[in-house]
Amino acid sequence: MQLTITTTHSPATDLGYLLHKNPARVQSFPRSFGQAYVMYPEATNERCTMALILDVDSVGLVRKRQDSGGFALEQYVNDRPYVASSFLSVALGDLFGTAMTGRCKERPDLVDRPIPLEARVSVIACRGGEGLLRQLFEPLGYAVDATPYPLDPRFPEWGESPYSTLILRAETRLRDLLTHLYVLIPVLDNDKHYWVGDDEVEKLLRRGEGWLGAHPAREFITHRYLKNQHSLTQDALARLAESDPIDQDEMEERPEKAGETVAYRLNLHEQRLQAVAEALRESGARSVLDLGCGEGRLLRLLLDDPNFERILGVDVSYRALERARERLHLDQLPERQRQRIALLHGSLTYRDRRLEGYEAAAVVEVIEHLDYARLAVFERVLFEFAHPRVIALTTPNQEYNRLFDSLTAGTFRHADHRFEWTREQFHGWANAVAERHGYSVRFSPIGPEDADAGAPSQMAWFTAGEVT
Ligand code: SAH
Repeated sequence: MQLTITTTHSPATDLGYLLHKNPARVQSFPRSFGQAYVMYPEATNERCTMALILDVDSVGLVRKRQDSGGFALEQYVNDRPYVASSFLSVALGDLFGTAMTGRCKERPDLVDRPIPLEARVSVIACRGGEGLLRQLFEPLGYAVDATPYPLDPRFPEWGESPYSTLILRAETRLRDLLTHLYVLIPVLDNDKHYWVGDDEVEKLLRRGEGWLGAHPAREFITHRYLKNQHSLTQDALARLAESDPIDQDEMEERPEKAGETVAYRLNLHEQRLQAVAEALRESGARSVLDLGCGEGRLLRLLLDDPNFERILGVDVSYRALERARERLHLDQLPERQRQRIALLHGSLTYRDRRLEGYEAAAVVEVIEHLDYARLAVFERVLFEFAHPRVIALTTPNQEYNRLFDSLTAGTFRHADHRFEWTREQFHGWANAVAERHGYSVRFSPIGPEDADAGAPSQMAWFTAGEVT
């Protein structure tokens, strides 16, 4: 069974550094299930391919097994040596564990950079067919190419076998590609060969960090990965849900002296929403996306203005969307009003065609909840693929934090914030994004301004196709 990974990043031989395996050598690793080989069939500056070959020893495996259940011949004659199975996942973990965690002394900056990658799995058994392969890999940003094999080419009427050659292409970080294969190959292999215990839950959560929680097929993946063991699956799903930034009340900045600060904070959030709604109104847009809509406070303002004819609220938290549905009384709205608004459970770090075709987008206090490493994906999802004409995006101004008495230096306003930016950092990011995607950008402060620290919140207003 063979997996190849190819890059055309220049110089392509950097792949050897990222994988911690020298392109000039053929290496062999004895494993409990057979032999693993790593070699590079091509290694030039333009193109480099690493091949991992697993020589699975079916007979040896039978001899090691204590219980000899099942049909005896099948233990010897099966597809194990030829098909990607959880053995491949084990080999990936053993041979490329360091690459997966993103450590690389020689090319530290390349670890976090998306590079053009192609993975080819020589044969995969997938009874769910190409559709399932797409459901698993496309939300992660891969172009999926699956070539199925007939059961027997001499008897086409017998139909397709469950086997295909799978090719995945993406511009992504190598560590992500390895991690996705590590988790998803055993998901396809419904015949998982090793015992599933509690540490599998840990492994899944660790390897799934940053992507599995928001994957549309996370329940299926968790279920299959844990070999359909109900209690483990429940445990893993509960813990994945916990990592969802859900509780809207906690989303507010931390309180200081109860009464006044809460009022102040609510007021600040209200000002923010009003500023965004006002800018959207002035733009004349009739269709609006509210990305990371939370429990729908901005949606309320948009719905109250009949000029917005088509409104879509998107959030990764299902609970937040349920609250939005309740707060907006969506189920009781008259049909015409109901037609104007929809809620969508989805993540901003995956391309989603349903976000295309809107004139405007609001992203209010959301980016600081995204993993810094996923920001580049979010950027493409919004600015390149959804590509609305105008975008209002707000984020806290970190310089203002010292004016919040309750915040100790170096801490964030909310436990779920992954970063908070100074005005300069925000401007730097927004200017670069605007330039990469053909937008112009203006900035405005939100909330009372301090002479040194500026305002507590900051808004960037992007307009497509305008030269600054
Ligand atoms: N915009 C709202 C909520 C801000 S709180 C308001 O101003 O009131 C941040 C919101 O972003 C939360 O509801 C959280 O669930 C959502 N969020 C975080 N990561 C997300 C992601 N990857 N995709 C979509 N929404 C996300």
